[in-house]
Amino acid sequence: MLDKIIEYQSEESNLIKYENELSKSSAREEASKIQQVLKSQQAELISLENHAKKTNESFMLAQKKYEEYLKKLEELEKEVENADTEKLSFYEKMYKDFVSVGASLEKEISKVYSEVKKINESYEETIKKSKSLRDKFDKHIAVYKKLKSEIDPKIEETKQKMAELEKVIDKKILMVYKQKRDSHIFKVFVPLINNKCGGCRMDISASRLGQMKSNELGIIECENCGRYIYQD
Ligand SMILES: [Zn+2]
Repeated sequence: MLDKIIEYQSEESNLIKYENELSKSSAREEASKIQQVLKSQQAELISLENHAKKTNESFMLAQKKYEEYLKKLEELEKEVENADTEKLSFYEKMYKDFVSVGASLEKEISKVYSEVKKINESYEETIKKSKSLRDKFDKHIAVYKKLKSEIDPKIEETKQKMAELEKVIDKKILMVYKQKRDSHIFKVFVPLINNKCGGCRMDISASRLGQMKSNELGIIECENCGRYIYQD
């Protein structure tokens, strides 16, 4: 009477094996790890873009200030040229101070410029890394797809067999089987081995063994692991 459910269980065991082969495939795991890294690189690129935008704005602003400075400098030079001797020293001092403003502006521009250069380098480096990672990702995905194309038909076939068996298995037995499966117990039916549970190896008492014999299905529920034990 239990033959069919045991057969069903062994088909489900195959099904679990196939599904594990897919979900635990190293190609899939590698691809998924790479995907995480690619995501963080994507975020890094966005943050670099924002940083570049701000730095570019600073660069433009510094350049504009410098252009204004040059214009004023030209004006001042004219003032110095045309200044009479009395005011000459005053203008000369002013000119000197003003030139030092220019030097600090030049310094600022070169600082911002090197920052822009640094950002560009980081950006290109990240793009390069992403590209090489994407190639690796594609390779892993190709391996996984090949594996899936091999295993999917096996899964389909096994599901078919189980569906066929469900039609002939005693409804009550199928129901208790599925209840156990819902509580994540597998295997559900295990043989009695040397008076021990075939699942968890716990000793079964003589009185429980007696219950097994008197039971209509010849099974008892293991008090330890909850599996059904049958006499092989
Ligand atoms: Zn047990």
